[in-house]
Amino acid sequence: MGNALVLFSGGQDSTTCLLYAVTHYENVWTMGFSYGQRHTAEMVCRTDILAELRSHKDYQERLRADCVLTLPNFSAIDTNALTDPHQAIAEHNGLPTTFVPGRNILFLSYAAAYGYSRGIQTIVIGVGEADYSGYPDCRQATCQAMEQALSLGLDRPVRIETPLMTKSKAETFAYALELGGQWALDLIRKKTHTCYVNDRSHWHDFGYGCGECPSCRLRAKGWEEFCRSHVSECCKSKT
Ligand code: ZN
Repeated sequence: MGNALVLFSGGQDSTTCLLYAVTHYENVWTMGFSYGQRHTAEMVCRTDILAELRSHKDYQERLRADCVLTLPNFSAIDTNALTDPHQAIAEHNGLPTTFVPGRNILFLSYAAAYGYSRGIQTIVIGVGEADYSGYPDCRQATCQAMEQALSLGLDRPVRIETPLMTKSKAETFAYALELGGQWALDLIRKKTHTCYVNDRSHWHDFGYGCGECPSCRLRAKGWEEFCRSHVSECCKSKT
């Protein structure tokens, strides 16, 4: 119980974190960012997902305000494939070109500042070290250091919760099912957005997307793995 703020993009991971937060916290705020990302579809998806949660009897009482901040476009200060459509989505010097330097550090700072006057001491973020691309700001060590920096900088305890830190994509599908049952699994599959190239027109068993970008491929692989261990839920979900 208590207050929490979820960094909520409308993707699979942050939506699972939102399900986690409305299960474990009495008052849950959400925050999203427009920072020039190519996959603008996630901003539409997050609105839909919030509407679904607000109409659900178990969660509607717990959701507080949603805050969307428009940040300067990252392409003004860095060249990366997530905010610059002219950059190829590929690997460069051991990191995917979709890495936006400092993005989660900025997001966590804004979240802590927003929470300061609202009595929110817990920030939930859907980063993880398993099954991911090696983004350095998704690591446990970075989150722990940020927790310390924010607690010192605000002179009050700030907790950063990372419920997906050790979970693979398959385990993240399973976790949504555990948190909210078949309804939650269907919400994740049909309403969340993952595709880097913004495709919401092609339907696959794992959800909408181009099916080809690294993000779609990771989600597809996770769904297949999940289905092998949860056959009946996968079948129900497809009907
Ligand atoms: Zn894709």
